[in-house]
Amino acid sequence: MTFDYICSECGKVYDIRPDLMVCPDCAENQIEDQPLAGVLEVRLTGEADSSFDLFDLLPVEKEFFPPSPVGNTPLWEPENIRKRTGFKNLYIKDDGANPTSSFKDRASYLVSAFAKKNGINNIVLASTGNAGSSMAGIGAAAGQKITIFLPETAPPAKIIQALQYGAQVHKVAGNYDLAYDFSMEYSKRAGGMNRNTAFNPMTIEGKKTVSLELFKQLGTVPDYVFISTGDGCILGGIYKGFEDLKKLGIIGQIPVIYSVQAEGSDALYRAFHSGKFTNIPTSTVADSICVDVPRNGSYALKKLKTHGGRIIRVSDEQIIEAQSDLSASAGLFTEPAGSTAWAGFKKAAGELEKEALVVIMATGNGLKDTATALKGVRMPGKSISSIDEILK
Ligand SMILES: *Cc1c(COP(=O)(O)O)cnc(C)c1O
Repeated sequence: MTFDYICSECGKVYDIRPDLMVCPDCAENQIEDQPLAGVLEVRLTGEADSSFDLFDLLPVEKEFFPPSPVGNTPLWEPENIRKRTGFKNLYIKDDGANPTSSFKDRASYLVSAFAKKNGINNIVLASTGNAGSSMAGIGAAAGQKITIFLPETAPPAKIIQALQYGAQVHKVAGNYDLAYDFSMEYSKRAGGMNRNTAFNPMTIEGKKTVSLELFKQLGTVPDYVFISTGDGCILGGIYKGFEDLKKLGIIGQIPVIYSVQAEGSDALYRAFHSGKFTNIPTSTVADSICVDVPRNGSYALKKLKTHGGRIIRVSDEQIIEAQSDLSASAGLFTEPAGSTAWAGFKKAAGELEKEALVVIMATGNGLKDTATALKGVRMPGKSISSIDEILK
């Protein structure tokens, strides 16, 4: 297999090198407050069949990956939910089971390997919380130095995680978008590899592994995949994985993907309908998908349109309800951005055939943000002093 970069906008082709992150020609047209211009996509050329080894479809050799068990996450068959909804072929992909408990490990894993291969030991990024704690953990296993910029509202558990892994953590006086700008300036001035989502092409490429795994686990492609969307990097990555399998002739068809956004952070949804991105301040309980300007927005939008994908929105109330519903009926406690996909399925289920093979992506562990999870449950009231008090 050979690999190079192709610009997702102008189609120009480049060799893969660590100092090239976006298409230089298209990046010149970058407009402020708009998604990244000139996102580069890894292009694979070669042959493989359905018994492929996942690492053979990645642009960095296996020997450079850190010793972290990323991916191969469990595919749940939630019996109670199947019975209740009538969807007999419904699965939940639990990416909260990754080493740092979120989907982001798929990107960090490949970025870490890419840096190692190129002799780079410092990695810099902005994050709402999960990308940072992920890069910190995967980087720790690789012996790399990680510097993170976070919004001041990031859930404490995610910050503590990053600190535990030994990362350098900076809170910025503002939101994720400001953290993004700061991290760009920092890596420009201080050096190191920047792992910002979509900006580093390996983030999209790493995230494609979930599609390859789904094919391996199911022996076929799903009919529908539900994924929550903020920056659109996971959404783009899922499409990329299925596109690669199709290009190799391993699958014939790409699933219908439902991108699910929070009503309070719906930039991609709006762009899908209006054709342009507008910057409106965002707010949602699902912190991992709270972004003003979706960095991978142009790329993700193009994929959605090309493949007939759908995009829907759910309210914060629906996200919180979906979180406790999934916990109580499947035994799967996912963070709000994870349960957003489940809320999206509940909203769209009426449009789908009951026989369809449906995969819901649960993208992060519920313990990452207990403050929000608390909104969906009632803490026990006063402490009891005897069993009589509850058994009478
Ligand atoms: C980052 C993240 C998402 C959304 O991914 P994008 O690439 O930003 O669209 C969803 N869920 C969780 C838990 C995340 O950490």
